[in-house]
Amino acid sequence: PEEIRVYEFAEKINKSVSEVIKELFSLGVMFTKNDFLDKDSIEILADTFGVNVTTVNDQEAFDYVKAYDEEGEAGEQHLVERAPVITIMGHVDHGKTSLLDYIRSAKVAAGEAGGITQHVGAYMVEKNGRNITFIDTPGHEAFTEMRSRGAKVTDIVIVVVAADDGVKPQTKEAIEHAKAAGVPIIIAVNKMDKEAANPDLVKAQLAELGITPIDWGGEHEFVPVSAKTGMGIEDLLETILLQADLLELKADPSREVKATVIESSLEKGRGPVATVVIEDGTIRVGDIVVAGIAFGKVKALLNDLGQSVKEALPGEPVVVLGLSEVPGAGETLISVKTDKIAREYAKKKAEYLRQKELSKTTKVSLDDLSAMI
Ligand code: GDP
Ligand code: MG
Repeated sequence: PEEIRVYEFAEKINKSVSEVIKELFSLGVMFTKNDFLDKDSIEILADTFGVNVTTVNDQEAFDYVKAYDEEGEAGEQHLVERAPVITIMGHVDHGKTSLLDYIRSAKVAAGEAGGITQHVGAYMVEKNGRNITFIDTPGHEAFTEMRSRGAKVTDIVIVVVAADDGVKPQTKEAIEHAKAAGVPIIIAVNKMDKEAANPDLVKAQLAELGITPIDWGGEHEFVPVSAKTGMGIEDLLETILLQADLLELKADPSREVKATVIESSLEKGRGPVATVVIEDGTIRVGDIVVAGIAFGKVKALLNDLGQSVKEALPGEPVVVLGLSEVPGAGETLISVKTDKIAREYAKKKAEYLRQKELSKTTKVSLDDLSAMI
Protein backbone atom coordinates (compact mmCIF):
# COMPACT_ATOMS: atom_id res chain seq x y z
CA PRO A 1 0.00 0.00 0.00
CA GLU A 2 1.07 3.56 -0.61
CA GLU A 3 2.16 5.17 2.58
CA ILE A 4 1.73 8.87 2.25
CA ARG A 5 -0.31 11.26 4.38
CA VAL A 6 -2.20 14.29 3.13
CA TYR A 7 0.24 16.81 4.61
CA GLU A 8 3.25 14.90 3.25
CA PHE A 9 1.73 14.89 -0.19
CA ALA A 10 1.01 18.63 0.07
CA GLU A 11 4.60 19.30 1.07
CA LYS A 12 5.89 17.26 -1.81
CA ILE A 13 3.91 19.07 -4.45
CA ASN A 14 4.49 22.48 -2.84
CA LYS A 15 0.85 23.20 -2.00
CA SER A 16 -0.74 24.08 1.29
CA VAL A 17 -2.54 21.36 3.24
CA SER A 18 -5.82 23.27 3.04
CA GLU A 19 -5.60 23.48 -0.76
CA VAL A 20 -5.22 19.72 -0.96
CA ILE A 21 -8.03 19.04 1.53
CA LYS A 22 -10.28 21.50 -0.30
CA GLU A 23 -9.60 19.75 -3.60
CA LEU A 24 -10.38 16.37 -2.04
CA PHE A 25 -13.56 17.80 -0.55
CA SER A 26 -14.65 19.02 -3.97
CA LEU A 27 -14.21 15.44 -5.17
CA GLY A 28 -16.60 14.37 -2.46
CA VAL A 29 -14.14 12.85 0.00
CA MET A 30 -13.25 13.98 3.48
CA PHE A 31 -9.63 13.83 4.56
CA THR A 32 -7.76 15.29 7.50
CA LYS A 33 -4.12 16.21 7.18
CA ASN A 34 -2.87 13.03 8.89
CA ASP A 35 -4.94 10.60 6.84
CA PHE A 36 -3.20 8.33 4.39
CA LEU A 37 -4.07 8.92 0.77
CA ASP A 38 -5.20 6.05 -1.39
CA LYS A 39 -3.71 5.46 -4.80
CA ASP A 40 -6.74 6.77 -6.73
CA SER A 41 -6.86 10.02 -4.78
CA ILE A 42 -3.15 10.53 -5.33
CA GLU A 43 -3.57 10.10 -9.05
CA ILE A 44 -6.54 12.47 -9.26
CA LEU A 45 -4.75 15.09 -7.15
CA ALA A 46 -1.63 14.78 -9.23
CA ASP A 47 -3.71 15.35 -12.32
CA THR A 48 -5.54 18.34 -10.83
CA PHE A 49 -2.36 20.04 -9.64
CA GLY A 50 -0.47 19.12 -12.78
CA VAL A 51 2.33 17.19 -11.09
CA ASN A 52 3.96 13.88 -11.92
CA VAL A 53 3.81 11.19 -9.30
CA THR A 54 4.83 7.59 -9.36
CA THR A 55 3.31 5.28 -6.84
CA VAL A 56 5.32 2.30 -5.78
CA ASN A 57 4.89 -0.63 -3.49
CA ASP A 58 7.02 -3.58 -2.40
CA GLN A 59 6.02 -5.63 -5.36
CA GLU A 60 7.00 -3.04 -7.93
CA ALA A 61 10.31 -2.42 -6.24
CA PHE A 62 11.28 -6.03 -6.68
CA ASP A 63 9.58 -6.52 -10.01
CA TYR A 64 12.78 -6.82 -12.00
CA VAL A 65 13.73 -9.98 -10.16
CA LYS A 66 10.28 -11.43 -10.74
CA ALA A 67 10.39 -10.47 -14.40
CA TYR A 68 13.77 -12.16 -14.73
CA ASP A 69 12.51 -15.36 -13.12
CA GLU A 70 9.38 -15.45 -15.27
CA GLU A 71 11.35 -14.94 -18.43
CA GLY A 72 13.59 -17.85 -17.47
CA GLU A 73 10.67 -20.15 -16.84
CA ALA A 74 9.08 -19.23 -20.15
CA GLY A 75 12.21 -19.57 -22.26
CA GLU A 76 14.14 -22.61 -23.37
CA GLN A 77 16.59 -23.66 -20.69
CA HIS A 78 20.15 -24.80 -21.21
CA LEU A 79 21.02 -26.03 -17.75
CA VAL A 80 24.54 -27.04 -16.85
CA GLU A 81 26.26 -27.80 -13.57
CA ARG A 82 27.41 -24.77 -11.61
CA ALA A 83 29.87 -24.25 -8.76
CA PRO A 84 28.46 -24.60 -5.24
CA VAL A 85 28.49 -21.47 -3.07
CA ILE A 86 29.66 -22.01 0.50
CA THR A 87 29.37 -19.87 3.62
CA ILE A 88 31.49 -20.58 6.68
CA MET A 89 29.92 -19.71 10.03
CA GLY A 90 30.69 -20.48 13.65
CA HIS A 91 31.64 -19.09 17.03
CA VAL A 92 34.21 -16.33 17.26
CA ASP A 93 37.83 -17.59 17.34
CA HIS A 94 36.88 -21.09 16.27
CA GLY A 95 38.83 -20.56 13.05
CA LYS A 96 36.53 -19.26 10.27
CA THR A 97 39.07 -16.79 8.91
CA SER A 98 41.97 -19.23 9.33
CA LEU A 99 40.08 -21.92 7.46
CA LEU A 100 39.17 -19.56 4.60
CA ASP A 101 42.75 -18.31 4.44
CA TYR A 102 44.20 -21.79 4.43
CA ILE A 103 41.91 -23.01 1.67
CA ARG A 104 42.61 -19.96 -0.42
CA SER A 105 46.39 -19.91 -0.01
CA ALA A 106 46.67 -23.64 -0.66
CA LYS A 107 44.77 -23.25 -3.91
CA VAL A 108 46.41 -20.14 -5.27
CA ALA A 109 49.42 -20.85 -7.47
CA ALA A 110 52.67 -19.42 -6.17
CA GLY A 111 52.97 -16.92 -9.01
CA GLU A 112 49.62 -15.39 -8.11
CA ALA A 113 50.27 -15.15 -4.40
CA GLY A 114 50.49 -11.37 -4.59
CA GLY A 115 46.75 -11.19 -5.00
CA ILE A 116 46.14 -12.96 -1.77
CA THR A 117 46.92 -10.04 0.48
CA GLN A 118 43.97 -8.06 -0.76
CA HIS A 119 40.61 -8.51 0.83
CA VAL A 120 37.99 -10.30 -1.22
CA GLY A 121 34.36 -10.82 -0.31
CA ALA A 122 34.26 -14.15 -2.08
CA TYR A 123 36.68 -16.44 -3.83
CA MET A 124 36.76 -19.63 -5.82
CA VAL A 125 39.01 -22.67 -5.55
CA GLU A 126 39.42 -25.74 -7.69
CA LYS A 127 39.13 -29.30 -6.46
CA ASN A 128 39.16 -32.37 -8.73
CA GLY A 129 38.67 -30.11 -11.73
CA ARG A 130 35.57 -28.50 -10.24
CA ASN A 131 35.08 -25.08 -8.72
CA ILE A 132 33.90 -24.21 -5.22
CA THR A 133 33.00 -20.65 -4.25
CA PHE A 134 33.49 -19.42 -0.70
CA ILE A 135 31.83 -16.33 0.68
CA ASP A 136 33.68 -14.43 3.36
CA THR A 137 30.69 -13.36 5.44
CA PRO A 138 31.08 -10.60 7.94
CA GLY A 139 28.78 -12.55 10.27
CA HIS A 140 25.38 -13.98 10.91
CA GLU A 141 23.69 -10.62 10.69
CA ALA A 142 24.72 -10.12 7.11
CA PHE A 143 23.65 -13.64 6.28
CA THR A 144 20.24 -13.08 7.84
CA GLU A 145 19.92 -9.68 6.19
CA MET A 146 20.63 -11.16 2.79
CA ARG A 147 18.19 -13.95 3.37
CA SER A 148 15.49 -11.52 4.49
CA ARG A 149 15.91 -9.82 1.13
CA GLY A 150 15.22 -13.13 -0.49
CA ALA A 151 18.77 -13.61 -1.69
CA LYS A 152 19.74 -17.22 -2.15
CA VAL A 153 23.41 -16.63 -1.62
CA THR A 154 24.55 -19.90 -0.25
CA ASP A 155 24.08 -23.57 -1.12
CA ILE A 156 25.87 -25.17 1.82
CA VAL A 157 26.83 -23.82 5.24
CA ILE A 158 29.99 -25.01 6.95
CA VAL A 159 29.76 -24.61 10.68
CA VAL A 160 33.20 -24.49 12.26
CA VAL A 161 33.51 -25.79 15.80
CA ALA A 162 36.83 -25.73 17.64
CA ALA A 163 37.51 -29.22 18.95
CA ASP A 164 39.08 -27.81 22.10
CA ASP A 165 36.18 -25.50 22.88
CA GLY A 166 33.02 -27.27 21.76
CA VAL A 167 29.60 -25.83 20.98
CA LYS A 168 29.20 -22.17 21.95
CA PRO A 169 26.34 -19.65 21.62
CA GLN A 170 27.30 -18.54 18.09
CA THR A 171 27.63 -22.17 17.04
CA LYS A 172 23.97 -22.63 17.96
CA GLU A 173 23.04 -19.39 16.22
CA ALA A 174 24.84 -20.48 13.06
CA ILE A 175 22.97 -23.79 13.06
CA GLU A 176 19.64 -22.05 13.60
CA HIS A 177 20.29 -19.67 10.70
CA ALA A 178 21.31 -22.48 8.39
CA LYS A 179 18.30 -24.55 9.38
CA ALA A 180 15.97 -21.61 8.87
CA ALA A 181 17.44 -21.06 5.43
CA GLY A 182 16.94 -24.73 4.62
CA VAL A 183 20.59 -25.06 3.67
CA PRO A 184 22.56 -28.29 4.26
CA ILE A 185 25.12 -28.12 7.04
CA ILE A 186 28.60 -29.64 7.12
CA ILE A 187 30.47 -29.53 10.43
CA ALA A 188 34.17 -28.75 10.31
CA VAL A 189 35.67 -29.85 13.62
CA ASN A 190 38.65 -27.51 13.71
CA LYS A 191 41.86 -27.21 15.74
CA MET A 192 42.40 -30.97 15.65
CA ASP A 193 46.13 -30.33 16.00
CA LYS A 194 45.61 -29.18 19.57
CA GLU A 195 46.21 -31.50 22.44
CA ALA A 196 42.95 -30.58 24.10
CA ALA A 197 40.96 -31.49 20.98
CA ASN A 198 37.92 -33.55 21.86
CA PRO A 199 35.93 -34.26 18.68
CA ASP A 200 33.65 -36.76 20.40
CA LEU A 201 32.45 -34.08 22.78
CA VAL A 202 31.67 -31.84 19.76
CA LYS A 203 29.71 -34.70 18.21
CA ALA A 204 27.75 -35.31 21.40
CA GLN A 205 26.96 -31.63 21.87
CA LEU A 206 25.79 -31.23 18.29
CA ALA A 207 23.79 -34.47 18.33
CA GLU A 208 21.85 -32.91 21.16
CA LEU A 209 20.98 -30.06 18.82
CA GLY A 210 19.75 -32.47 16.17
CA ILE A 211 22.97 -32.41 14.14
CA THR A 212 23.93 -36.07 14.35
CA PRO A 213 27.10 -37.39 12.68
CA ILE A 214 26.76 -39.99 9.93
CA ASP A 215 28.94 -42.47 11.87
CA TRP A 216 26.45 -42.15 14.70
CA GLY A 217 23.56 -42.98 12.41
CA GLY A 218 22.69 -39.39 11.61
CA GLU A 219 22.74 -37.33 8.42
CA HIS A 220 25.53 -34.86 8.94
CA GLU A 221 29.11 -34.96 7.77
CA PHE A 222 31.64 -34.07 10.48
CA VAL A 223 35.08 -33.41 9.02
CA PRO A 224 38.04 -33.15 11.40
CA VAL A 225 40.36 -30.38 10.22
CA SER A 226 43.16 -28.11 11.26
CA ALA A 227 43.42 -24.68 9.72
CA LYS A 228 46.92 -24.55 11.16
CA THR A 229 48.44 -27.72 9.68
CA GLY A 230 46.02 -28.18 6.81
CA MET A 231 44.95 -31.58 8.04
CA GLY A 232 41.57 -32.66 6.67
CA ILE A 233 41.11 -29.65 4.38
CA GLU A 234 41.11 -31.79 1.22
CA ASP A 235 38.52 -34.06 2.87
CA LEU A 236 36.41 -31.03 3.63
CA LEU A 237 36.54 -29.92 -0.01
CA GLU A 238 35.59 -33.40 -1.18
CA THR A 239 32.71 -33.52 1.27
CA ILE A 240 31.51 -30.20 -0.14
CA LEU A 241 31.56 -31.60 -3.67
CA LEU A 242 29.65 -34.73 -2.62
CA GLN A 243 27.03 -32.59 -0.91
CA ALA A 244 26.86 -30.37 -4.00
CA ASP A 245 26.23 -33.45 -6.16
CA LEU A 246 23.19 -34.27 -4.04
CA LEU A 247 21.87 -30.75 -4.56
CA GLU A 248 22.23 -31.01 -8.36
CA LEU A 249 23.07 -27.34 -8.69
CA LYS A 250 22.31 -26.15 -12.18
CA ALA A 251 22.10 -22.87 -14.02
CA ASP A 252 21.82 -21.53 -17.55
CA PRO A 253 24.98 -19.67 -18.66
CA SER A 254 23.33 -18.67 -21.94
CA ARG A 255 20.96 -16.32 -20.12
CA GLU A 256 21.34 -12.68 -19.08
CA VAL A 257 22.92 -12.50 -15.66
CA LYS A 258 21.29 -12.65 -12.23
CA ALA A 259 23.66 -12.21 -9.30
CA THR A 260 23.66 -11.39 -5.60
CA VAL A 261 25.65 -8.49 -4.18
CA ILE A 262 27.85 -9.87 -1.40
CA GLU A 263 29.52 -6.63 -0.48
CA SER A 264 30.05 -3.20 -1.95
CA SER A 265 31.99 -0.02 -1.36
CA LEU A 266 33.03 3.27 -2.85
CA GLU A 267 36.68 3.13 -3.85
CA LYS A 268 38.98 5.98 -4.69
CA GLY A 269 39.63 6.11 -8.41
CA ARG A 270 37.31 3.21 -9.08
CA GLY A 271 33.94 4.50 -7.93
CA PRO A 272 31.26 2.10 -6.72
CA VAL A 273 32.58 -1.46 -6.53
CA ALA A 274 30.40 -4.50 -5.93
CA THR A 275 31.40 -8.10 -5.29
CA VAL A 276 28.68 -10.36 -6.61
CA VAL A 277 28.13 -14.09 -6.86
CA ILE A 278 26.48 -15.19 -10.08
CA GLU A 279 23.27 -17.12 -9.49
CA ASP A 280 22.27 -17.63 -13.11
CA GLY A 281 23.35 -16.51 -16.56
CA THR A 282 26.65 -14.92 -17.54
CA ILE A 283 27.88 -11.41 -16.81
CA ARG A 284 30.10 -9.73 -19.39
CA VAL A 285 31.97 -6.49 -19.71
CA GLY A 286 29.64 -4.07 -21.48
CA ASP A 287 26.43 -5.50 -20.00
CA ILE A 288 23.86 -2.99 -18.82
CA VAL A 289 22.97 -3.90 -15.27
CA VAL A 290 20.77 -2.80 -12.41
CA ALA A 291 21.15 -3.66 -8.72
CA GLY A 292 18.68 -1.92 -6.45
CA ILE A 293 19.29 1.82 -6.76
CA ALA A 294 22.48 1.27 -8.75
CA PHE A 295 22.72 0.86 -12.50
CA GLY A 296 25.31 1.19 -15.22
CA LYS A 297 27.33 -0.40 -17.95
CA VAL A 298 29.84 -2.95 -16.70
CA LYS A 299 33.19 -1.22 -17.21
CA ALA A 300 35.37 -4.01 -15.90
CA LEU A 301 35.13 -7.35 -14.14
CA LEU A 302 37.78 -8.57 -11.72
CA ASN A 303 38.28 -12.07 -10.42
CA ASP A 304 39.21 -12.90 -6.81
CA LEU A 305 42.87 -12.20 -7.54
CA GLY A 306 42.08 -8.72 -8.80
CA GLN A 307 42.73 -9.75 -12.40
CA SER A 308 40.61 -8.38 -15.19
CA VAL A 309 38.26 -10.94 -16.76
CA LYS A 310 35.77 -10.69 -19.61
CA GLU A 311 32.96 -12.70 -18.06
CA ALA A 312 31.82 -14.70 -15.04
CA LEU A 313 29.65 -17.82 -14.99
CA PRO A 314 27.01 -19.20 -12.60
CA GLY A 315 28.37 -19.93 -9.13
CA GLU A 316 31.36 -17.66 -9.68
CA PRO A 317 32.28 -14.58 -7.68
CA VAL A 318 33.29 -11.42 -9.52
CA VAL A 319 33.90 -7.76 -8.77
CA VAL A 320 31.80 -5.40 -10.88
CA LEU A 321 32.94 -1.89 -11.81
CA GLY A 322 30.88 0.76 -13.58
CA LEU A 323 27.82 1.17 -11.35
CA SER A 324 26.24 4.56 -10.68
CA GLU A 325 25.93 3.97 -6.93
CA VAL A 326 26.97 1.53 -4.24
CA PRO A 327 24.29 -1.18 -4.16
CA GLY A 328 23.25 -2.71 -0.84
CA ALA A 329 24.51 -6.15 0.20
CA GLY A 330 21.95 -8.79 -0.64
CA GLU A 331 20.59 -6.80 -3.56
CA THR A 332 19.94 -8.69 -6.78
CA LEU A 333 21.83 -7.58 -9.86
CA ILE A 334 20.47 -8.39 -13.29
CA SER A 335 21.34 -7.29 -16.79
CA VAL A 336 18.71 -5.58 -18.91
CA LYS A 337 18.41 -4.69 -22.57
CA THR A 338 18.69 -0.92 -22.45
CA ASP A 339 20.12 1.83 -20.33
CA LYS A 340 16.62 3.31 -20.10
CA ILE A 341 15.18 0.20 -18.46
CA ALA A 342 18.08 0.07 -16.01
CA ARG A 343 17.50 3.69 -15.01
CA GLU A 344 13.79 3.09 -14.59
CA TYR A 345 14.25 0.09 -12.27
CA ALA A 346 16.83 1.93 -10.20
CA LYS A 347 14.56 4.97 -9.93
CA LYS A 348 11.65 2.82 -8.78
CA LYS A 349 13.80 1.24 -6.14
CA ALA A 350 15.06 4.61 -4.90
CA GLU A 351 11.52 5.95 -4.71
CA TYR A 352 10.41 2.84 -2.85
CA LEU A 353 13.19 3.19 -0.30
CA ARG A 354 12.46 6.89 0.11
CA GLN A 355 8.80 6.24 0.80
CA LYS A 356 9.66 3.50 3.26
CA GLU A 357 11.96 5.91 5.04
CA LEU A 358 9.30 8.60 4.98
CA SER A 359 6.67 6.36 6.53
CA LYS A 360 9.18 5.55 9.26
CA THR A 361 9.87 9.18 10.09
CA THR A 362 6.17 9.93 10.04
CA LYS A 363 5.58 7.28 12.64
CA VAL A 364 8.32 8.68 14.82
CA SER A 365 7.01 12.21 14.68
CA LEU A 366 3.50 11.10 15.53
CA ASP A 367 4.81 9.15 18.50
CA ASP A 368 6.75 12.20 19.59
CA LEU A 369 3.61 14.25 19.27
CA SER A 370 1.52 11.97 21.46
CA ALA A 371 4.35 11.84 23.96
CA MET A 372 4.22 15.62 24.21
CA ILE A 373 0.48 15.60 24.75
P1 GDP B 1 37.43 -16.69 13.64
O1 GDP B 1 37.10 -15.68 14.68
O2 GDP B 1 36.43 -17.81 13.66
O3 GDP B 1 37.62 -16.12 12.27
O4 GDP B 1 38.81 -17.38 14.11
P2 GDP B 1 40.28 -17.12 13.56
O5 GDP B 1 40.48 -17.75 12.25
O6 GDP B 1 40.59 -15.67 13.67
O7 GDP B 1 41.11 -17.97 14.60
C1 GDP B 1 41.17 -17.64 15.99
C2 GDP B 1 42.49 -18.11 16.59
O8 GDP B 1 42.58 -19.54 16.51
C3 GDP B 1 43.70 -17.58 15.84
O9 GDP B 1 44.70 -17.28 16.76
C4 GDP B 1 44.13 -18.75 14.97
O10 GDP B 1 45.50 -18.75 14.67
C5 GDP B 1 43.75 -19.94 15.80
N1 GDP B 1 43.40 -21.12 15.01
C6 GDP B 1 42.49 -21.20 14.02
N2 GDP B 1 42.42 -22.45 13.52
C7 GDP B 1 43.34 -23.18 14.22
C8 GDP B 1 43.74 -24.54 14.18
O11 GDP B 1 43.26 -25.36 13.41
N3 GDP B 1 44.69 -24.92 15.09
C9 GDP B 1 45.24 -24.08 15.97
N4 GDP B 1 46.16 -24.54 16.81
N5 GDP B 1 44.88 -22.77 16.03
C10 GDP B 1 43.94 -22.33 15.17
MG1 MG C 1 37.36 -14.14 11.63
